[in-house]
Amino acid sequence: MTTIATTNPATGEAERTFDAMTDEEVDRRIARAAEAFASYRTTGFAQRAEWMHAAAGILDAERGRIGAMLTTEMGKTLKAAEAEAAKCAAACRFYADRAAGFLADRRPADAKEVGADDAYVRYEPLGPVLAVMPWNFPLWQVVRFAAPGLMAGNVGLLKHASNVPQTALFLEDLFRRAGFPDGVFQTLLIGSSAVERVLRDPRVKAATLTGSEPAGRSVASIAGDEVKPTVLELGGSDPFVVMPSADIGAAARTAAESRCLNNGQSCISAKRFIVDAACADEFERLFVEHMRAQKVGDPMEESTDVGPLVSEQGRADVEELVADAVDKGAQVLCGGERPGGPGWYYPPTVLSGVTPEMRMYHEEVFGPVASLFRVGGIEEAIGLANATGFGLGANAWTRDDAERERFVRELDAGQVFVNGKTTSYPQLPFGGTKRSGYGRELSEEGARAFCNAKTVWVG
Ligand code: NAP
Repeated sequence: MTTIATTNPATGEAERTFDAMTDEEVDRRIARAAEAFASYRTTGFAQRAEWMHAAAGILDAERGRIGAMLTTEMGKTLKAAEAEAAKCAAACRFYADRAAGFLADRRPADAKEVGADDAYVRYEPLGPVLAVMPWNFPLWQVVRFAAPGLMAGNVGLLKHASNVPQTALFLEDLFRRAGFPDGVFQTLLIGSSAVERVLRDPRVKAATLTGSEPAGRSVASIAGDEVKPTVLELGGSDPFVVMPSADIGAAARTAAESRCLNNGQSCISAKRFIVDAACADEFERLFVEHMRAQKVGDPMEESTDVGPLVSEQGRADVEELVADAVDKGAQVLCGGERPGGPGWYYPPTVLSGVTPEMRMYHEEVFGPVASLFRVGGIEEAIGLANATGFGLGANAWTRDDAERERFVRELDAGQVFVNGKTTSYPQLPFGGTKRSGYGRELSEEGARAFCNAKTVWVG
């Protein structure tokens, strides 16, 4: 039986518990979604845009309250939580303004070439889409699906992570208050074992999942069995390669920011730092300095950089990976010891000497722990960067044009950021390759992700 509850990671105390919805209640909600879709799909872009702008307005107006809710439920710093609300508002506005253009009828060929008077592609919504979402960016991950999805005319059923129920309920309320008709966006308070039943319901037409690889594999296999389309945004162990031509100071500062982003719990945090031997001493010194300088503490405090990990289990998982590496010979350059006192805190940690025998070499570390590697040139750097089952983001630092081109061409990832850290923007597609998933969110691709691209030929 799943516990659906808010437990504050800064104190370890349970604050609110919710009953999971019964099968009957879930069925009522699916029925409401199907009914809502029948009329919602006929609304025009202008009407949907008005509601989506209203949602953006609420996110901006209530940023403080939303921020406190996110921080209490999953421990990110208040300033990061407020920034997440602002980013969601911007994404809602982006799709409100751009969806009509992204989804306008498209004429890929001259009609005469295909023997027609007219030939075009029309993007039509699929219907109720199930969104299975993680706790780490509890607002952003959902809005990243919902803003393009609702603008395209789909309706949403959210199964959020069980530890962020207040955020899950807030999201339903947000779209309702913004004016979207009843049933267009609903939250299902259910545990993961109830997902299969929803996904197999014929009224549910597609699914998107952001989360871990096992969850993705399970949802994708059920969806495959039902022949329903899916988008999967899974884990990552992003490389961060530094070459001697780079601005080493900027690279070291950005490396620490990236690794500590969201208290070290971001899919696109750089996790493996691969440095050319010619600049490795300088990078290591500066990187360790920046990691040590991160202020760990109460996430509600303005000056805090790194708050607690999400749960006791989350911290235990990180500790297990560090202990395994240290037992097998890795060196701890900073951090590595949990502080005393309440809350699930873990300090920014840098390890060197990580080898393929260690779990950390292959697995995603969901906490502020970096592995530092020294390599002898670009060939070895690219080889090591790609020596992972994941393929979400990749970072390369160089001021050499030929090197940059090699990184862009040869790094096996859904996105390559040169001289910067991986970030998501509504304007750019986001997603992974290999075991990091498939499909794309955001930009034009995200708007079309859950559409039937219907070819129309008129003689
Ligand atoms: P998770 O344990 O996989 O949970 C994600 C969601 O899936 C939750 O709603 C969870 O529900 C549900 N779930 C878990 N197992 C399931 C199953 N077998 N069938 C159906 N649903 C299932 O992941 P998490 O710990 O919340 O998030 C961390 C992971 O997400 C990391 O690997 C991170 O890299 C990845 N992530 C990826 C992206 C990206 O864009 N690629 C973004 C953010 C996070 P319950 O909470 O009820 O278990």
